Amino acid sequence: MATNRTFTMIKPDAFAEGNSGAILKMIEEAGFKIVAMKATQLTGEMAGKFYAVHAERPFYADLCAYMSSGPIIAAILEKDNAVEDFRKLIGATNPADAAEGTIRKIFAKSIEANAVHGSDSDENATIEGNFYFSEIERVG
Ligand code: ATP
Ligand code: MG
Repeated sequence: MATNRTFTMIKPDAFAEGNSGAILKMIEEAGFKIVAMKATQLTGEMAGKFYAVHAERPFYADLCAYMSSGPIIAAILEKDNAVEDFRKLIGATNPADAAEGTIRKIFAKSIEANAVHGSDSDENATIEGNFYFSEIERVG
């Protein structure tokens, strides 16, 4: 069953470059509604927990250091077919492979510093949204 929510982070590279506004504009123009949003900064430990699925990968330590290196924006987004449509909007993990017009093609610096996160399944969208936001912090 497809749900209508996904979860995103504007990653430290995009936040530091001042691209948050432009990225949020693309997200809204693509039809996503912001259900919850905050600027925050992960500790290395929290980044490790968020990306625990990648714990055995060679890039895991670098990824945790990078994701905790500066502020991010975390948000829950709503749209029909949210997970799949958002992955299309952000483009491939490696910006070199990302389609023209996608957020990563426009804003990502590298395969690691790739501007945005997007949930890869409805189940993970729920887990990730709950990681950052309590009930009271969400619209509806
Ligand atoms: P995300 O989960 O952040 O939306 P993704 O689903 O496109 O990205 P994953 O395979 O889940 O890609 O990898 C998580 C993150 O780990 C990537 O977004 C990137 O920042 C980093 N990463 C992935 N592969 C590599 C790699 N080969 N080298 C360095 N960093 C990587
Ligand atoms: Mg992923």
